[in-house]
Amino acid sequence: MSVKKFKKALILFFAAALFLCGVNQINIGYAHGAVKTGVVTGSTVNVRSGPGTGYSKIGSVNKGTTVEVLETKNSWHKIKLPKISSGWVVGTYLAVSDKKSTGGTSPNPGPVPNYSKTVSVIKPNINVRSGPGTNYSKVASINKGQQFGVIKESGGWYNISLGSGKTGWIAGWLVTVKTQNKPVASSETETKTAPGTFLVVKGSIVNVRSGAGTGFGVIMKVKAGDRFSVIKKSGEWYLVILPGNKQGWIIGTYVVVSSADAPSRNDPNPPTPPVSDPNPPTPPDINPNLPSPPTNNNTNPVQKLTDVELSLEDSGKEILVIKSEGAIKYSLQSLHDPTRLVIDLDSSDVNGLQDFTPDGTMAAKVRVAQYSLTPMVVRVVIDLNEQVSYLPTLSEDNKTLTVSLSEPSIEGKVIVIDAGHGGYDPGAIGITGLEEKGFNLETALLLKDKLDAVGAKVVLTRDADSFLSLTERVAVANKINADAFVAIHANSSDNNYSAKGTATYFYAPSSNSGLYAQLQQRKTLAKTVQDRLVSSAGTMDCGVLQANFAVLRETTMPSILVESAFLSNRDDEALLKDSQFRDKIAQGIADGLIEYFSK
Ligand SMILES: [Zn+2]
Repeated sequence: MSVKKFKKALILFFAAALFLCGVNQINIGYAHGAVKTGVVTGSTVNVRSGPGTGYSKIGSVNKGTTVEVLETKNSWHKIKLPKISSGWVVGTYLAVSDKKSTGGTSPNPGPVPNYSKTVSVIKPNINVRSGPGTNYSKVASINKGQQFGVIKESGGWYNISLGSGKTGWIAGWLVTVKTQNKPVASSETETKTAPGTFLVVKGSIVNVRSGAGTGFGVIMKVKAGDRFSVIKKSGEWYLVILPGNKQGWIIGTYVVVSSADAPSRNDPNPPTPPVSDPNPPTPPDINPNLPSPPTNNNTNPVQKLTDVELSLEDSGKEILVIKSEGAIKYSLQSLHDPTRLVIDLDSSDVNGLQDFTPDGTMAAKVRVAQYSLTPMVVRVVIDLNEQVSYLPTLSEDNKTLTVSLSEPSIEGKVIVIDAGHGGYDPGAIGITGLEEKGFNLETALLLKDKLDAVGAKVVLTRDADSFLSLTERVAVANKINADAFVAIHANSSDNNYSAKGTATYFYAPSSNSGLYAQLQQRKTLAKTVQDRLVSSAGTMDCGVLQANFAVLRETTMPSILVESAFLSNRDDEALLKDSQFRDKIAQGIADGLIEYFSK
């Protein structure tokens, strides 16, 4: 092509690369904690300097040791070890599990014909965000030519259906809009429901739609016993809040609506528990391809609760402990007027446990009741004297749920700061040679000063240029049951020197019940810190992202990993070298933590 054309193409390429700051460019290799791990299965296994028995022995590992796998070649694994930097072991004696984070798959668009309005993407590799603006985090990436149904519009942005119940926002200037034949919606007037109104699904499988009518697309399916907060009613349809703060419409025929939320055996007028209709009407909105519902749709075995108690800690926290003979499945809501926490325990039998008045100042009363018999739900309500911070934690066997209550303030909170890398592990190396480990440590020390000044109790995993394994870093925080864990890193891209900006990671997948119990806290911590960081440092906002990093996966408290800026980018590296910039990064993290602990 001509020089002119080539230049234009080059500019377009870099513009696209800049726009794509984040997910695709961020290195999630070993250096930043996403690891393949292996467990040694032979009793004592030799570690060699290369992938073969012809290489010299440089050490050994014992049975049961978990090691990080760096590379695999000819049935040999290169592993990372604390004393010798790395070496090779034969594959026969190492059970390797792939713990890499799942890659961002392109979303499947929903059934476009069901939407009155659709958008077609006009640019390649477009970000879909969690809200209507570039300051919201990325939730997916979509491509030129793909079509999506529009749920609603706001400020020039479109809320689109990504399929499988997922939704996201896309900027109006990146799409063309097409209006289709409008599906038939209910013409009846809308009525607002009283605050606290919720509904319980009684049809076995019921569709949730993007609008109040069967002509609208199905955005998810819900099942008997599922409970949702109601926003409003339109005709015979209810607009409800779905998991992940999404919204959708459910037809009234298959739900029981109630406006009470906190029954107890002492309530003079307890609400009628939502029971299945003995004579359900023929369901027009039930998937015809599904088998007919079983007579008893309560398939989970019912577990007896064995204890509910509230204890006081020296730290001033008040700890509610709920014990069950089986794995606990629960939902937790924070409600106001009056201020209270409501915990619903699925498939549970109250087993004679009673309301009680605890000692302490934050919790006024704990109420325990068999809230529903079909399905079996126990409701525990903590009536609060004041607004508190709360954190749910599930034990490893899932049989104990702990909810810790604390004053909404950073004062007295235990915060572990983890400066990434150190010692023989320099981390990423900048484009002109800046070592990541040095930036991480200096920023961690600045952050400690700022947090000390507001009364937090700060513990550093390292305060010198020394090496710690990921396991040791996690252990520092878990041993002292810290309130938050903050890992400080700088990013690097092997293949894109134009990638720049700041990202904050957390991890709380639904597949891990312990981490998922803290989804709200982990995500809020990441979002709050990311917002403050970007406004303090003035860097490009790469958003809040989830990744299976060892330090995020293994920490038992809300934890984040901050990728401050890109060492592989000339502009960002210059910032990382600048002590004023480090101070801004530390200030942004501190501001985010202060805000998080005030909620
Ligand atoms: Zn790093």
